[in-house]
Amino acid sequence: MSVGKRIELKGIPVSPGIIIGKAHIIDRSKIKVPLRKIDKKDVPYEIERFKKAVETAKNQLSELKDRLPDRLKEHAFILDSHMMILNDSMLYDATINRIKEKEINAEWALKESFEEIKNLFSQIEDPYISERINDVENVVQRILRNLMGHTQNEIFDIGEKSIVVAQDLSPADTAGLDAKKVMGFITDGGGITSHTAILARALELPAIMGLCHATNQIEDGNILIVDGDTGKVIVNPDDDDILYYRDKRAQRERLRSFVLKEANKPAITLDGHRIRVMANTEFLNEIYGLKELGAEGIGLYRTEFQYLSHSGIPTEEELFKEYKKAAQVMAPDPVIIRTLDIGGDKFKGEFSQINETNPALGLRAIRFCLKNIHIFRSQLKAILMASAYGNVQIMLPLISSVDEVLEANKIINDIKRELNKENIAYNPDTKVGIILEVPSSVMIADLLAHHVDFFSIGTNDLIQYTLAIDRTNKEVAYLYDPFHPSIIRMIKEIIKRGKEYKIPVSICGEMAGDPLCVPLLITLGMRQLSMNPRIIPFIKKLIRSISVKELKKDVKKILSFNTSEEIRSYMLVSMKELFPEIDAIGDYFYMQG
Ligand code: PEP
Ligand code: MG
Repeated sequence: MSVGKRIELKGIPVSPGIIIGKAHIIDRSKIKVPLRKIDKKDVPYEIERFKKAVETAKNQLSELKDRLPDRLKEHAFILDSHMMILNDSMLYDATINRIKEKEINAEWALKESFEEIKNLFSQIEDPYISERINDVENVVQRILRNLMGHTQNEIFDIGEKSIVVAQDLSPADTAGLDAKKVMGFITDGGGITSHTAILARALELPAIMGLCHATNQIEDGNILIVDGDTGKVIVNPDDDDILYYRDKRAQRERLRSFVLKEANKPAITLDGHRIRVMANTEFLNEIYGLKELGAEGIGLYRTEFQYLSHSGIPTEEELFKEYKKAAQVMAPDPVIIRTLDIGGDKFKGEFSQINETNPALGLRAIRFCLKNIHIFRSQLKAILMASAYGNVQIMLPLISSVDEVLEANKIINDIKRELNKENIAYNPDTKVGIILEVPSSVMIADLLAHHVDFFSIGTNDLIQYTLAIDRTNKEVAYLYDPFHPSIIRMIKEIIKRGKEYKIPVSICGEMAGDPLCVPLLITLGMRQLSMNPRIIPFIKKLIRSISVKELKKDVKKILSFNTSEEIRSYMLVSMKELFPEIDAIGDYFYMQG
């Protein structure tokens, strides 16, 4: 079977599943542009050539837009904005003038027009504009490819079923992947909690990121095995590899169908502790399958994608419709809607107007909302209106002080008065909780508890901010560790505070769905988990196989360990005894193998 050298690569497994297929390289490297002086008599021809390339680009974009599957239609605005750039006079007219005046080839004239735009934009120092320059560059590359006869290598234009290999994929690229053609993807950059990774899991596409040099080591058409459970990629596998992975995939599927049958049974430990298992969700169309997977509510509704997939800010009515639908589908189970969490790595350019050297520590989430009250108010009003249709709750992200909660509560009360005046129905007892994901909030959990109805632990950011590890930076991804003793201690502290102040505590970071973390979380007293929905049936099965009483004996020991590795291996050994399927489930999650 093997053609070419067999190579093994290791990256960060971000979305589970095993796929075997052909590599389809998306070449995003920039095209080298030649400079040619042309004769005056050739100027009209050169201009015509440029116009034709632009026309072709327009047709390509409109064809792409038409071919977007229904599920992804809401993302069409990205293509619209590219079409608008094609007609921009700074690009279009300026390039034609350059060809005329300088008597140079269209490629070089276009390159100069782009450099000029880039130069102008860079002086404005506005991240919104700097994001737009990436779109301009994208469009320029498209025209250049047409001029130079390169194929467009459309991300959607994949002839046969294949595995996409790219240097990087933006969240928008990922949302646009056609699941019928794309079996999964691997990229040189990125990490597990990036939004591209979260989207991959939502689309159920096996994916590995952070492979560093995959695009240099893989050729188009190479056969690949991608193990999204462990992060391993085998390029040009031999027959034994193929047999092994086909078998592993079949085993995995058997386990999956077995576990799915039991998804709706409650998650009760052997010694009688009932655990509520909820889903994290990003898109409205995901919610219809949640009950079937055994989700007992939505513990984290990430609303930022509603804003991303919209040109401009969505209206209150649009937001309300979506929240109402979610509330109705999930009722009587809770739908915990997290208010807009943008900034940091999350689509900053779309909204933020300031230049930040350190965006993860900048104007993100609640900070952004409190500075852009009109955006915040409209979302809160939509959530409150939806509260009349089910068990809707509000969750505030990135809280780091009591003042932020007081300010948000004041706005919420204000909107309630407005709704009363307008005679609009809502639930006046709508619960308002916060995500504890900044270390300062953990330290003042007792103070915060007086002002909120519940806590949810956002371990993705809590790890980022506690361990000082940028969650999008692949250079430090190896340090990102849920078993770090500081994280375990913080979780223990939050659970204790929750009990003390009688408010429920849940966990909604990726840790909540990690089969090695779950037993420890439950033993520490966690009774509500919210996770990637596809792991729910497995986690429920795992919970039904453990006894808190048994595990409690180990807690003291676990808490005395100095290193993450000690905690992890201890959990692995004891879980293997209690629950032999842990390996298969662990693989299904995305533990590093
Ligand atoms: C978290 O930080 O753990 C979390 C759940 O939120 P997000 O991953 O969207 O930042
Ligand atoms: Mg977070």
